[in-house]
Amino acid sequence: MPDEQMAPETAYRLVHDEAMLDGNARLNLATFVGTWMDDHANRLYIESADKNMIDKDEYPQTAEIENRCVTMLADLWHAPDPARAIGTSTIGSSEACMLGGLALKRRWQTARRAAGLSTERPNLIMSSAVQVCWEKFCNYFEVEPRYVPVSDEHRLLDGHDLEKYVDENTIGVVAIMGVTYTGSYEPVEQIAAALDRIADERGHDVPIHVDGASGAMVAPFCRPDLTWDFGIERVASINTSGHKYGLVYPGVGWIVWRDVQALPEDLVFRVSYLGGDMPTFALNFSRPGAQVLLQYYLFLRLGFDGYREVQQCSLDVAAYLSEGIGEMEAFDLWSDGKDIPVFAWRLRDGHTANWTLYDLSDRLRMKGWLVPAYPLPDDLADVTVQRIVVRNGFSRDLASALLDDLRTEVAYLDSLDGPIPRAGGNAPFHH
Ligand SMILES: *Cc1c(COP(=O)(O)O)cnc(C)c1O
Repeated sequence: MPDEQMAPETAYRLVHDEAMLDGNARLNLATFVGTWMDDHANRLYIESADKNMIDKDEYPQTAEIENRCVTMLADLWHAPDPARAIGTSTIGSSEACMLGGLALKRRWQTARRAAGLSTERPNLIMSSAVQVCWEKFCNYFEVEPRYVPVSDEHRLLDGHDLEKYVDENTIGVVAIMGVTYTGSYEPVEQIAAALDRIADERGHDVPIHVDGASGAMVAPFCRPDLTWDFGIERVASINTSGHKYGLVYPGVGWIVWRDVQALPEDLVFRVSYLGGDMPTFALNFSRPGAQVLLQYYLFLRLGFDGYREVQQCSLDVAAYLSEGIGEMEAFDLWSDGKDIPVFAWRLRDGHTANWTLYDLSDRLRMKGWLVPAYPLPDDLADVTVQRIVVRNGFSRDLASALLDDLRTEVAYLDSLDGPIPRAGGNAPFHH
């Protein structure tokens, strides 16, 4: 910290100029998180930047608006009685997943204690392709993670062999709507059917949490035919990132439980609210209230039709890009961007020994594009893929510029007369 003050203009310049060294958000095809909102949203953001979400007494209208958003999401996700579903905003899907996991754990503990059984060794079942927040949940809250490995035959968690993983200590199964590595939806209905069979045969009645960080704000609009949400009775809770396909700036997530029974009462705290009390269940105390207002603004501004249009537009751009990339000699598509507008491809077997997708990622970076390459999770860790996340604002025009650059860079790499020399390993990529 400097000893003395400086003029605000000087400090502003220093911070502003240094932040310019960050990448250009619009060319960042690695992130899922919103990088653009319209001028009205920007105005609202500045007007409400001082609101603290936890001060429900001081900002009762923000608290009311948060509840309206929860009800709208419960309705969108087909909760049996949306007005009576329970939920909260969070700082993102990670916090929402911690809360979802905690509710599963507490429900299991309560039932076990009531039956006079041990609560020593809870476990949670999920694909090896889960987002890192689930590994954190298991580590921080002392739950054994049971990973079902992805394989060439089962690229998604699809319920196969689930009986080998489920036992009396299973608190739940996580199903992902929009796997971060590939963009694909896990078949929630099929997973639920496998759990139904297990419940019939062995009596273990295991709930599902749907991690819809991306997909829960895409599937309802673009795949209304798909059954994945509270329409499946086994689905106890669903989370989403308001700041991903909810289209808000970074700092908001949501979790909704299908009904009050799904959220154990002893996890809920009461804060003072207009002389009465208001239930809260969150890991954070103070956090910005502005993002919740921005989410509500978008729900009103876009409505169902608007969200469908925006997401469909991203899906169309993803399809255009994945077709273009799929047609290139050098590549095989791993997924096609038809679930969420995210897809991955690999280098075609035998195409070259001179370069890898990491080299291509470096070449693209020289032109400003951030298109990460990374290994798939276990048991496909020997497969390297490269991934594109299409977000609102990534136009077909930009997509066509990216395809041109891809072709140019692949032609350059293919023209090398020997392998690119390597230094050490590649740093892991965090999804
Ligand atoms: C991004 C993501 C998360 C974490 O969400 P944050 O909002 O970044 O905390 C969790 N699960 C999945 C499937 C994701 O894609």
